[in-house]
Amino acid sequence: MRRLAVYPGSFDPPTLGHLDIIERAAKLFDGLVVGVGRNRAKKPCFLSVDDRCEALRAATSHLSNVTVDSFEGLLVNYATEVGATAIIRGLRATADFEYEFQMTLVNRRLRHEVETVFFMTSPEHSYLSSSIVREVAILGGDYVGMVPPGVAEIIRRVLSEKP
Ligand code: ADP
Repeated sequence: MRRLAVYPGSFDPPTLGHLDIIERAAKLFDGLVVGVGRNRAKKPCFLSVDDRCEALRAATSHLSNVTVDSFEGLLVNYATEVGATAIIRGLRATADFEYEFQMTLVNRRLRHEVETVFFMTSPEHSYLSSSIVREVAILGGDYVGMVPPGVAEIIRRVLSEKP
């Protein structure tokens, strides 16, 4: 039986912290689906969902068992749809814990057979978040070392198109 996992998130934009989690999770599972959530509550967005998917595909092109897709609606439904038995999430500081704890318990209540698996951030990425990268990029700072190379290119393009 192929063991599949889904790694959901906003990825607006994807960072080196996300890529680190993807690379580590891809080693533990036969297949990993990175799911970009079309979250209507989180707006306005920096990169469009299509740009985020393109950025993630560029960043993960060296990983043959990783696919990238977008989804809408309940995560546990999406996990079941793609045949995943696990949800991957990353943990940075204690600040992540409360939200992740709540989401894990809700998802387990909704679909008890889908297990949530946490990866602790690598120390060199522990300060990274999409919101920090967005802020640095919008204010004209150097975000290049915070994101995978293919992602930096897409951010550059999007920034140059913004009024
Ligand atoms: P969401 O809006 O679902 O939290 P994010 O794109 O912000 O989406 O994050 C997706 C997942 O990646 C979350 O589990 C988050 O904790 C994790 N993550 C984000 N940045 C890092 C990082 N630097 N190191 C480890 N995990 C991270």
